[in-house]
Amino acid sequence: MEKDFGFQMSDVGVSRDNQPGLSPTRNPKSEIRNPKTVSRDNQPGLSPARNPKSEIRNPKTVGILSLQGDFDAHAKAVERAGATAVQVRAAADLEALDGLIIPGGESTTMLKLLHAENLMEPLREFGRRRPIFGTCAGAILLANEVSSPAQESLGLIDIGIERNAYGRQLDSRIANVTPETEFASRTSPGDMEAVFIRAPIIRRVGGDAKVLVHYKGDPVLVEQGRHIVATFHPELSTDPRVHELFLQKLA
Ligand code: GLN
Repeated sequence: MEKDFGFQMSDVGVSRDNQPGLSPTRNPKSEIRNPKTVSRDNQPGLSPARNPKSEIRNPKTVGILSLQGDFDAHAKAVERAGATAVQVRAAADLEALDGLIIPGGESTTMLKLLHAENLMEPLREFGRRRPIFGTCAGAILLANEVSSPAQESLGLIDIGIERNAYGRQLDSRIANVTPETEFASRTSPGDMEAVFIRAPIIRRVGGDAKVLVHYKGDPVLVEQGRHIVATFHPELSTDPRVHELFLQKLA
């Protein structure tokens, strides 16, 4: 399994210990794919009928693009937030998914692999129907416009993004950010840890896009229609709110 995504978790003091791997694509036997095996059956008053918000009896399935980058950490975060994670390595894996995550890593490498696997058009087509959440390199791949240097992208979210924009000195760090009220009202209030690793900066946000979190005045979590992008790595923190927000967007 490719694990080299151009940076080390230890660079930013984030441990990846105890993170279970992804459940294999469409493995119906996996415990992880069937969270109802750890259900609330024994809890009085929590029958599924009376708990319409529960994802437990009918979990959403989120694909994690697993060609390169930190896809394992996203799988764990998705499962912590109450959905099922499956690997996506080929166009056929996109069938039957409720949403997709494009992880952090190295966007140029991922782009090459996407071409090698003939995944560019299938991903664009998927994004016209279903939500996609891109973190860091994933945000770069989803953007309409990429600079420093310019490179091809999926063009699914109307932002302009500059790669490696914090420069060498601020290469990687863990910051504390205060989400916008909109984010807090759709999840829950409170500051959030934001792990930045050779992060890009979102330089332009289209008219239909909404900034949900800023850091030092720059947008770091942006939503446009069904899609969201983060320039930080919520999958490397224990705060589940960004993944929960994404799960809310799945039909
Ligand atoms: N610097 C990487 C790129 O340009 C992104 C880094 C990341 O995903 N953490 O693709």
